[in-house]
Amino acid sequence: MIKPKVAQKAFQTQEDLLRNVDLLNENISVTNSKKAKDGAIIVGCNNIENSKKLKQLAADKLSNDYDVFVLRSEHPRVRIVGIPSCLNKESFMSYLKSQNSDLLADATEYRLLNFWPLKKNKKILQATVQLDIHTYKKVMKACGLLVGINICKLYDDTTVTRCFKCNGFDHKTKCPRPVICALCAGEHQVNTCHSGAKVCSNCRGLKHMHGFDISVDHPAWYYKSCFAFKFAEDKLRNVVFGEPVRIDISKIPNFKPTDVQSVPSTSSVQVFNRFEPLSDFKSSFLDRPQMRPM
Ligand SMILES: [Zn+2]
Ligand SMILES: [Zn+2]
Ligand SMILES: [Zn+2]
Repeated sequence: MIKPKVAQKAFQTQEDLLRNVDLLNENISVTNSKKAKDGAIIVGCNNIENSKKLKQLAADKLSNDYDVFVLRSEHPRVRIVGIPSCLNKESFMSYLKSQNSDLLADATEYRLLNFWPLKKNKKILQATVQLDIHTYKKVMKACGLLVGINICKLYDDTTVTRCFKCNGFDHKTKCPRPVICALCAGEHQVNTCHSGAKVCSNCRGLKHMHGFDISVDHPAWYYKSCFAFKFAEDKLRNVVFGEPVRIDISKIPNFKPTDVQSVPSTSSVQVFNRFEPLSDFKSSFLDRPQMRPM
């Protein structure tokens, strides 16, 4: 992302970048670009090495007038169902790649996020695997993936995950934040909750930040009623797939902008920084999730 220190038109930023960085000679392949707030632009490269290289070159030439940084990329996830129970995480990942090499050999992102048995039949396993967008598209066109001698079914699993410790969305397994009860939003473990009240800490945080009228009286896991979950998922799918954003919180009556305004509207960074509700419960959505509700 290249963000001018003083707001200007995005075309000015584009011109300055192209005038100062020779993309062709540097052999940097750009896959997409989009405008962000106050004249900032986000330039997508084909791999992380090129992103870092572009960042370095742009920072060297433009740092007097611009802030330049690499945004974390979001990736789609696929759920694979029907894995034989004799496999473990490591053997599953090697079987998957070698038996489906036509689809997976060139994957630039290939990461196991979760591996667990079906609720109804513990002898059958399922897994969530994170892939780069090109591999994901190829995989989802296939009827299934071969693992061992099973043809596994595939489902899109690109959704936000909730941390079992603090209820925040999409962050690392080792959560440094205080425990927040998923039933009442108090600072205790959910299995010791005696409150009787139902409060979603994520919706409460959003309401607190923006002042608008949303319901908070549901457990944090009750996604059907959870505005914060729908909102976060909406933004994730917008970033990953470019799907239109259905919820624009700035159009909700009583919307109160926060001071976190300097990142682009297309970036999950901006959105999720706004989930900074009470105490030091600070949601960092800059790390990919390792957790998901069962
Ligand atoms: Zn957490
Ligand atoms: Zn509680
Ligand atoms: Zn909620």
